[in-house]
Amino acid sequence: MHVPLLDLSEQHRALAEPLRAEIDEILATQNFILGPKVEAFESAIARYCGAKHAIGVSSGTDALLAILMAMEIGPGDAVVTTAFTFFATGGCVARVGARPVFVDIDPVTYNISPAAIESFLAKCARQADGRLVDDGGRTVRAIMPVHLFGLCCDMDAITEIARRAGVPVIEDAAQAIGAEYPRQGGAAQAGTMGLVGSFSFYPSKNLGAAGDAGLILSNDDELAHKIRICRQHGMEPRYFHHFIGGNFRLDEIQAAVLNVKLPHLNGWSAARRRVADVYREEFTRRGLTKQVRLPAEPFRERRLTNHHIYHQFVVATERRDELREHLTHQQIGTAIYYPLGLHQQQCFAYLGYREGDLPETERAARETLALPIYPELSREAQLYVVDAIQEFFSSGRTETPSLVASAA
Ligand SMILES: *Cc1c(COP(=O)(O)O)cnc(C)c1O
Repeated sequence: MHVPLLDLSEQHRALAEPLRAEIDEILATQNFILGPKVEAFESAIARYCGAKHAIGVSSGTDALLAILMAMEIGPGDAVVTTAFTFFATGGCVARVGARPVFVDIDPVTYNISPAAIESFLAKCARQADGRLVDDGGRTVRAIMPVHLFGLCCDMDAITEIARRAGVPVIEDAAQAIGAEYPRQGGAAQAGTMGLVGSFSFYPSKNLGAAGDAGLILSNDDELAHKIRICRQHGMEPRYFHHFIGGNFRLDEIQAAVLNVKLPHLNGWSAARRRVADVYREEFTRRGLTKQVRLPAEPFRERRLTNHHIYHQFVVATERRDELREHLTHQQIGTAIYYPLGLHQQQCFAYLGYREGDLPETERAARETLALPIYPELSREAQLYVVDAIQEFFSSGRTETPSLVASAA
């Protein structure tokens, strides 16, 4: 049996007709960029997430870049973030000329550790002009948590730390659209809890476009306005440029595709949670939870709709590489998110991090493995995956005798 890590074909079959009708309409009108489909998508997402402003942009990466540019974060500044994330998070900070400060993760959730943020900020000093500066004299301008794999960070702690430090929070919610965080009397959604939040609609994300697309949410009128202008080269009115922006525009075809898909998102998230529940039950029932650490669900009992949206189902084991090889032989797709912390990437060598600086990030990079998960994944396919993992760990116990046998 072949079980891919992700298969979007079934989702597409169900929506093929409305998608084609939308695209045909756009081809007929020849209105390709920032038109009514983009506007409709922006208001739909603002409503869905519960944010005041939504600004559609060209990708999740460009969302982060536009935010940093609009906030005028640049040379002489520092942004505190996680090294256990997709490259764009740290890459955009460096691209605007600021320094990414990588702090360690919580080993249970893999999200940025509030305690690690706090211990970095404790080493910073308050200047007479109110700026918080690090030991290199850089101004700490933002804290950038990433809601990894579809689970919100510990936002109460992070928000409180940020408030005390007087530093805004930029949420990288690329993997967490619709993910909820428990708040008194209800829930807050990923991307709406900080000053500003970013999303990606890369095709493999939970809400995927037919190409690149992204979005920014904010409740701050002034910042949202500036980001909107930043999306078109800092231009307002046309051909008058107040500051330097970029071409971060979202096109109509992508927005139209996303408009068709958005009403299905909660159903897909629920289906992903059912897949996660089957994995959890099967790993537990077979007594595999000693060998394989399952993803944490800190908000499960909090009566939220989307306590986790399972962008990925990530397990951990010390024998990760062997397990992955075994699963590959059984035609089971897996992936490693991420094999190296950003602090250890060659392009960030200039930051001067050493092996051992972020031990939990480094351990997660060695031990985590993403298993197949998508809304349409069948129970049968899941049982095949768990069978293969069970087989791997039980054959591990007989490894020594077989080695002895082959040596003899
Ligand atoms: C996917 C992703 C991005 C970048 O999004 P693109 O649309 O691919 O540019 C940024 N941050 C995280 C955490 C992501 O997973």
